Amino acid sequence: MSEQPEAESADTYPAPEHGWTCFHCGETFLHEIVARAHFGSLPNCEAACRIKGSEERGLVRRLRATEDERQSLFLAKTKAEKHLAEMDAEIARLILLLSTAEADRKKAVAEERERAAKIAERYAEENKQAKIRASKRASRLRGLPFAADQIALAEDGALELDAAEREATAIASAIRSQP
Ligand SMILES: [Zn+2]
Repeated sequence: MSEQPEAESADTYPAPEHGWTCFHCGETFLHEIVARAHFGSLPNCEAACRIKGSEERGLVRRLRATEDERQSLFLAKTKAEKHLAEMDAEIARLILLLSTAEADRKKAVAEERERAAKIAERYAEENKQAKIRASKRASRLRGLPFAADQIALAEDGALELDAAEREATAIASAIRSQP
């Protein structure tokens, strides 16, 4: 691939008062368009006087036009390559962001699941303790007269608490066994 330096813009300095003189042939060009045809638009262009057969003006014009078009394409290609490199970097950055977000999401799901399982386990333990207290109360009441209703209530309560404990334990174990 042949690279060439970027063209120096003809607009970066004002046209010299006495025009441009070629150091190959000594000819002076007062107008920029004529000078440009002789020297070419780019620093690495061959001066027309150095090109064999350069008295054929139509061919010199075609040569200069082709050089200019080649330079435009070269600049467009350079710009496109830079843009491509930027897009590659952006794609890599987005892929990294996506994989980081996926990892964060998985971590958050696992933490939320662990928190829910702990709540269910604590609830099961509280129900178990309440059931033990209700059973003890039922036992104490059995020794007393006229306590049949309270005994039945305490026993029902113990049964309900037992069921609640089992349900909470099952929920905790279901949460923990999720994939
Ligand atoms: Zn010349």
